[in-house]
Amino acid sequence: MTQTRIPLAGVIGTPIAHSKSPQLHRHWLKTHGLPGFYIPMEVAPENLAQVIQTLPKAGFVGANITVPHKEKVMEIADLVTDRATLIGAANTLIFRKDGKIHADNTDGYGFIENLRQGAPDWRPQAGPAAVLGAGGAARAVIASLLDVGVPEILIANRTRIRAEALQADFGKRLQVVDWVQAGNMLEDAATVVNTTSLGMIGKPEMRVPLDGLQKGAVVTDLVYAPLQTRLLKTAEEMGCITVDGLGMLLHQAVPAFERWFGVRPEVDAAARAAALR
Ligand code: NAP
Repeated sequence: MTQTRIPLAGVIGTPIAHSKSPQLHRHWLKTHGLPGFYIPMEVAPENLAQVIQTLPKAGFVGANITVPHKEKVMEIADLVTDRATLIGAANTLIFRKDGKIHADNTDGYGFIENLRQGAPDWRPQAGPAAVLGAGGAARAVIASLLDVGVPEILIANRTRIRAEALQADFGKRLQVVDWVQAGNMLEDAATVVNTTSLGMIGKPEMRVPLDGLQKGAVVTDLVYAPLQTRLLKTAEEMGCITVDGLGMLLHQAVPAFERWFGVRPEVDAAARAAALR
């Protein structure tokens, strides 16, 4: 008698102990009464290719990929989606039945869905967006903002050349602003996004002057530890609509869970609580 294998998935990175993905996926598996396991896997860069190529043989249906492997994994996959290619990084692998390893990036999807859930009246076309930071997460945020029709993006990064590299890749709808002028770009922004690690527990506080924030602007922070950063607290006090970064983490996991386990899960209060547990 042939038995159906219990599907396995997990998250690969280093360090990995802090990851909230295992609690989240386990919560969804339990809620939907599905067989399956999701585990954290600490993998060093030199072992990445070997580990990924072995996982499908051990019953894995896919994996999330996190820091520092999101770029390297693109070389290991057999198929890379257009959006992962555009972003230059992948966060989700699907091990297909034909043996091919498929890489995708769902960070931009998670970012936009989080904004839509947290600020239901948000209209991308309402005006320019201001983006702080030009690292890996910024690429996914910018690609998705352009995709949903934000007319113009102003971007400031401590290391200006990284912002200029994004402008070279994404084109004229991006305007680079000096990091010391970052506060000024908030004055025209209908959407404001912090994609730097500033404000995260253990990192320096964000010192960008925030008095230019416009009442009614939608302000979001990718940092979710703490949940309410200084940016979000100040924005709320100034009458902005604020959306915390935890929802992006939850929403980016939805398409992966659906592909691996066959059910589209909900991002609700119980999922948030599970991720924070
Ligand atoms: P990254 O590629 O290392 O980029 C870090 C960014 O932060 C760069 O723009 C960097 O500027 C800036 N930065 C770091 N220290 C700074 C300082 N002291 N002063 C000014 N700028 C500074 O990291 P990432 O992958 O883009 O991630 C960025 C943040 O987003 C992290 O906190 C990460 O946890 C969070 N994130 C959240 C989600 C979510 O689901 N909510 C998803 C992805 C990422 P330079 O270029 O000048 O170094």
